[in-house]
Amino acid sequence: MVQSIMASMGVSPIRLTNTRGNYRPHVSLSFDEHIFAIDTSRTFKKDLVQPDAYLITHAHSDHNGKSAMLSPSAVCSKETALALEIRFGREYKGRTFRLGDTIDINGIEVSTHPNHHTIGSTAFSWENEQGTRILVTGDVKDSSHLPDCDLLVTEANYGDPADPACYFEDDVIGLEQVIGDNVALGAYAFGKAQRAVSLVRNAGWQGAISMDSMGYNLTKGLMSDCGPLSEILEYNGRHEGMVIVPPWDLGKLPGSMKKYVLTGRQDYYYPAINISDHMDVTGLVDMVTGLKPEATLVYHPGGDRPSKLAEHLNKVGCPAVALSEL
Ligand SMILES: [Zn+2]
Repeated sequence: MVQSIMASMGVSPIRLTNTRGNYRPHVSLSFDEHIFAIDTSRTFKKDLVQPDAYLITHAHSDHNGKSAMLSPSAVCSKETALALEIRFGREYKGRTFRLGDTIDINGIEVSTHPNHHTIGSTAFSWENEQGTRILVTGDVKDSSHLPDCDLLVTEANYGDPADPACYFEDDVIGLEQVIGDNVALGAYAFGKAQRAVSLVRNAGWQGAISMDSMGYNLTKGLMSDCGPLSEILEYNGRHEGMVIVPPWDLGKLPGSMKKYVLTGRQDYYYPAINISDHMDVTGLVDMVTGLKPEATLVYHPGGDRPSKLAEHLNKVGCPAVALSEL
């Protein structure tokens, strides 16, 4: 049903294969004479199908920018390119844009929109020749800047309506209550750590923030308003002000520090403060119904959440299918 709607709109989702015949990650969209690859790994010269572009929504590893960044056909925001270079220590070979700009890809006007998942994270939209408005969201924290569309390609990281873990709100007040000297927050170096810095600064903390080297380099590179930061070179030493390090490094810090993990998960040794880079399932469903697509393809992540979200969307009158069902 959804596939026939997509076919009538002049768009076919296809999955590129690697040399062993296995599917490459995520999806490519074939329309008119073009193919846009979404968050997939790059093909090689001998591959039969070559996309016009590799759209990289953001620099988290499970969106495969580490591979796509080495293709001249890669397309991502300036911040995503910088984050990929810092994270993976390689030169980004593709083209970049300022988030919000419209770019020309082989004659197609592609608009770019913030989805507020990480610094530089991007949703892409364009129209095919028959006027179908296509929107690819990437991972989304806030959908308020996304345009209405006819075909929506979106995520389901917290997309299972039957799973209590897919309902949450950010506990910003809980975070504000623990801000102070001798406090360490566990947060992944890309994405969560910059969200933590901005929340801590917004709460009025002017003092130093000490970070592990990767978190420090990413935050310094990506945030112009991060305030005083210092790099932790030696975990055993004294640390200035507040500390933000990956969750698995909290145990390396002095036992005298108060430690918390910024996460929605409950399986860490340290107390959790719920701060997420994602929308919960209520947000995802509200996003889809608000964007009013004729069809929705749920393309990320792996596992069964995309099919759970698609099943629910069909029940509420939004034709949807998960990539795994194609
Ligand atoms: Zn992500």
